[in-house]
Amino acid sequence: MTKSTKMPIVFFGHGSPTNALEDNIATQSWKRIADSIERPKAILCVSAHWYTHGTAVTAMETPRTIHDFGRTLPAPLFDCQYPAPSSPALAERVADLLKPIAVQMDQSWGLDHGAWTVFSKAWPDADIPIVELSIDRSRTEQWHYDMGKRLKPLRDEGILIAGSGDIVHNLSVMDWNEESRPYDWAARFNDYIKNCIVEDNPQGVLDYQARGMDATLSVPTKDHFLPLLYVLGAREEDDKLQFVSDFIQYKSLSMTSIVLGEFA
Ligand code: ZN
Repeated sequence: MTKSTKMPIVFFGHGSPTNALEDNIATQSWKRIADSIERPKAILCVSAHWYTHGTAVTAMETPRTIHDFGRTLPAPLFDCQYPAPSSPALAERVADLLKPIAVQMDQSWGLDHGAWTVFSKAWPDADIPIVELSIDRSRTEQWHYDMGKRLKPLRDEGILIAGSGDIVHNLSVMDWNEESRPYDWAARFNDYIKNCIVEDNPQGVLDYQARGMDATLSVPTKDHFLPLLYVLGAREEDDKLQFVSDFIQYKSLSMTSIVLGEFA
């Protein structure tokens, strides 16, 4: 792997929590990403599953593993633990970078499944500190993108900025049949966003609602889409781009993951 002083940025398409129990193309790709980038000193994770009023960072020493999904999922998922430490120093640094936005130093959240299902595959030893940054649901797309810009200096400090969500995420029409083909609108929308990223056209991503019904069906709620905007906000012009694990699961969950920057 090339030694670089600037950390890459990663968007993980996390899909279903059940990925944590599986060894599949997506989970293998998360491990491949971890093995192909410089080892982070710590990770700042923007997870779709911490969707809040206001902005907060996890500031406790030892975050709990949160099983934030329905009881209909397999029982072994509720036994999963990911005992990675946090980093109160990184939490302070993030709050500092985001000034004058008031960032709450949170002591009660932890690692939700947007974080631990992915990181338990990528870094199974759970020995890299992780801080989560919440997503303020009251803000505009542009605001979230600008948050990513403010976080850019972390890339020079050995910190991995990781978004965890899904470009396409519609649970109400998903189909658990592994063999089913993606909906046309899901494939079109995923391709549209990917194309904007290839062309380094963040405005096209921010204006995703102009895609009409494709956008309405692919992004019925913004929680899974917004983490991507933090990653794109932290993008530098000369970052190399790689799509990893680029497919749509269960007809309406995009598993596309994205690495920008140094990737062996
Ligand atoms: Zn999710």
